[in-house]
Amino acid sequence: MEFICKRLSIQAIAHNLACADDITTGWSPNETNVHLYSDTVHALLNEEQQRSNMPTVVTHAVVGLAAGTAVSGQKMPARFWVLSAVCPMLPDLDVLAFVFKIPYAHPFGHRGFSHSLTFALIVGLLVTIVFFRKERLRPKRFMLLSLYFFLITATHGVLDAMTNGGLGVALLAPFDNTRYFMPWRPIQVSPIGIRRFFSHWGLMVALSELLWVWTPSIVIVAIVKWVKGKKRLRPYFEKVIR
Ligand SMILES: [Zn+2]
Repeated sequence: MEFICKRLSIQAIAHNLACADDITTGWSPNETNVHLYSDTVHALLNEEQQRSNMPTVVTHAVVGLAAGTAVSGQKMPARFWVLSAVCPMLPDLDVLAFVFKIPYAHPFGHRGFSHSLTFALIVGLLVTIVFFRKERLRPKRFMLLSLYFFLITATHGVLDAMTNGGLGVALLAPFDNTRYFMPWRPIQVSPIGIRRFFSHWGLMVALSELLWVWTPSIVIVAIVKWVKGKKRLRPYFEKVIR
């Protein structure tokens, strides 16, 4: 109910703004118009903050686990699987920015630095250094593990950039804080908060993610497994992690 009222309110403000614009052909910024415009922008931004989250965190975890399944052998340590699920979810810790009143479009706002390739690279390196200490003395294995955790963390920003809502993703931060979207954006943006997720919107999100993320992930894993079994390739990561 609160959400519907909010939408109506935004529409009313936008309508007023449009009328004011019609009447004042050759628009000149007076105090009333500027105030009206400011209200509209703030209202729209507040709504966008509530709309624009992600594919759900569960879906990000599924992508990581699918990647782990595709590249790993059968005897992977538990920490590998836990980190495969957690790393792709980490970028959305930036929803805390809303708690601390950091604006959405700020470099450290939602979908900002934490969704960048730089952040993913830092995560990849730190995770390998902290959780796979033995590999620090094996440069090739260290690099492969770091690359793996970098890539699965980076999938988060890429998937968010394929959603149909919110601001874009600062993929190149901190060097370029432009918010980017992919040219193709089939994924329904997910709501923030459990209450909103159990709604028609939440159902649309779930179906969208099943179609555009879960299904391709399962198909890719199946193909990789089939190829490995067919050619009897020894799973590479089984050799990397001991
Ligand atoms: Zn995100």
